[in-house]
Amino acid sequence: MSSSNAGSRPVEAGGSRWVDPGHLYVVATPIGNLADISARAQSVLEGVDFIACEDTRHARVLLDHLGVRKECVALHEHNERGASEAIARRLAAGQSAALISDAGTPAISDPGEVLVRVLVDGGVPVVPVPGASAVIAALSASGLPARPFWFEGFLPAQDKARRDRLDRLAGVEATLAFYEAPHRIVKCVAVAADRLGGDRRAVLARELTKRFEQVVHGTLMELAGRLTEGTIPARGEFVFLVAPAGGSAEPPAAEAEALIAAMIDEGVAPKTIARVVSRTTSLSRNAIYAEVLARRKEP
Ligand code: SAM
Repeated sequence: MSSSNAGSRPVEAGGSRWVDPGHLYVVATPIGNLADISARAQSVLEGVDFIACEDTRHARVLLDHLGVRKECVALHEHNERGASEAIARRLAAGQSAALISDAGTPAISDPGEVLVRVLVDGGVPVVPVPGASAVIAALSASGLPARPFWFEGFLPAQDKARRDRLDRLAGVEATLAFYEAPHRIVKCVAVAADRLGGDRRAVLARELTKRFEQVVHGTLMELAGRLTEGTIPARGEFVFLVAPAGGSAEPPAAEAEALIAAMIDEGVAPKTIARVVSRTTSLSRNAIYAEVLARRKEP
């Protein structure tokens, strides 16, 4: 078993009290708004010997903004194995390194997983320096249940593979979280409506932390329609969330609705409402919880 103490005990080393020799720091960077970089992330980037970057030119823009002048080495999907071994050798020789990706948290639908695995297998300390991640930002503002949630990342680009994957996810009783590129988002949401059910609640979180940020709620059918008509522009970056299966967006039966409304009026906690109402109806806890949150947002 190996462990690291750098998260709990700041130390003076390598010119920064946050950095220890022989450690890799997995540093989250902003997903749009540069002010989202943390003070600790900045100190770690200043303190390490070198920085492994998904794209060195892209990284330079952020590092110049932060005033950090460091050696950058490329680590991307095409060289990850070889680059990881080279980085491991430098860490074994006592250097320290940070890993960053183009945006958000490395190794989350981004390069880094192989490097971290190589280091963990070799007993090298790997320290997370947390910050922005698009999926967590979207989920936190979605009103959909976060317990449990299923992070799928990107669906396959090919039509049949995407349909098959959605069919396999259709019964999962967890909020589904997808990343999607702008040129595929219209198709992706339309196919999701077809395979998961057009009535299911969903959220499109677009351009988070940026100027044209939008977090749009609706059923899958409604969101597919809005993308097609262009009231949600198919531009920028998207996180796409779908409410859990098993209870869905179908409006609760009349008695359940009355019970939910009465409990909201009495100030009962959403989790308690979900637990109590799910015992007396066929609706799932997750579906009721989502319904309560949605109603609490209504004017
Ligand atoms: N590692 C990153 C993270 O922690 O969020 C994700 C990298 S992945 C290659 C890029 C995808 O994340 C985009 O295609 C989009 O689906 C999502 N994404 C990144 N930034 C976003 C933003 N500002 N708003 C919405 N989605 C975003």
